[in-house]
Amino acid sequence: MTPDKLKRAEKQYHLGTYTRPDFVFTHGAGVYLYDAEGKAYLDFVAGIAVNALGYGDPRLSECIREHVDGLWHVSNLFYTEPQVRLARLLVENTFAHKAFFCNSGTEAMEGCLKIARKWGHANRGDQCHAVIAMEGSFHGRSYGSLSATGQPALAEGFEPMLPGVTFARFNDLASVRERVTSQTCAIILEPVQGEGGIFPATEDFLKGVREICDINNCLLIFDEIQCGLGRTGKFCAHEHYSVTPDLMALAKPLAGGLPMGAILLTDAVAAAVQPGNHGTTFGGGPLVSQVASHVVQRLRDPELLAHVDQQGAYLKSCLETLQARCSKILEVRGMGLMVGIELESDPLAVIKACADQGLLICKTGGNAVRLLPPLIVEPAHIDEAMAILGKVLSA
Ligand SMILES: *Cc1c(COP(=O)(O)O)cnc(C)c1O
Repeated sequence: MTPDKLKRAEKQYHLGTYTRPDFVFTHGAGVYLYDAEGKAYLDFVAGIAVNALGYGDPRLSECIREHVDGLWHVSNLFYTEPQVRLARLLVENTFAHKAFFCNSGTEAMEGCLKIARKWGHANRGDQCHAVIAMEGSFHGRSYGSLSATGQPALAEGFEPMLPGVTFARFNDLASVRERVTSQTCAIILEPVQGEGGIFPATEDFLKGVREICDINNCLLIFDEIQCGLGRTGKFCAHEHYSVTPDLMALAKPLAGGLPMGAILLTDAVAAAVQPGNHGTTFGGGPLVSQVASHVVQRLRDPELLAHVDQQGAYLKSCLETLQARCSKILEVRGMGLMVGIELESDPLAVIKACADQGLLICKTGGNAVRLLPPLIVEPAHIDEAMAILGKVLSA
């Protein structure tokens, strides 16, 4: 199909929930995507932080090839070894004692919310069901995860939301404290807010929220769907803060672009969950679990994490240099290779001009754009991106 035909067919046959640019990608290699005309795009979106290993990674392809003739799916009615191996790998590399697998970030968040309530009911009584979430947060599009998402525009027209959720200001401990009641079972936050505009939590905030949870006997849930799995230069973003949650959601890069989410939890929380309480048909199937084990091994590699740290620091310093000579950049913020640039006005024209010049970046909260390159990005790619961004911003 020609790009024009494809666009017309999409309009006719696919539900119109996305506004897409004009080009059509046909393949990718490393940190680049290519459109139907063969034009290269330096990809600083990475499938929204999913393609951590870039495109066409030979070892990832080999892993899929190796298992493609094996079992893909038998359901969770039966034992499979890859699922248990992946659970063990994640437990051995995190705060958690148990893992549960699902198929997306949204589902992982939904599961965290359900398990937190189950824990509340089991340990503190039927009234303990309320959740404190953060303004500007994003946790997904299902009713539970959307109800905990602090962006009212996303819920518009879909009300009523789940009862019992209140919103505190991110990085404002007093605002969290004010909202705690005897009904609070959990506080939920992203250690680095992604869709809200790339805002890292302060250390005081994360430590303070942990303390509030301990004092009030409620659970701390971290949504590390975007900031976890190496993106910030640590396997989990919360390792930067020396604060651990009781429950955590992972997804985006977990299975190298195959759909998968995970819930990680402590034994104390897991004790509230009994057989039959929660489930999924597809979650943690043998093929996707094999792939995820491969990806997790790669993303916890200290060499890769050090690389992310270095490239993140380089990217940020380049952007600060750019900011010094460009008044359109108001702020540069982020952690590792999760970087936001606050612009003085709506960034859509900048995003489009960058794409025309062969650089993909995407919008996030406010007037911010977001850079989420594959974690294998090299300084030359960053230089290329900065040259395009600098040219676009000075135009
Ligand atoms: C993407 C994202 C989600 C939702 O994940 P899906 O896989 O799209 O369902 C939830 N929380 C955060 C922080 C995310 O970035």
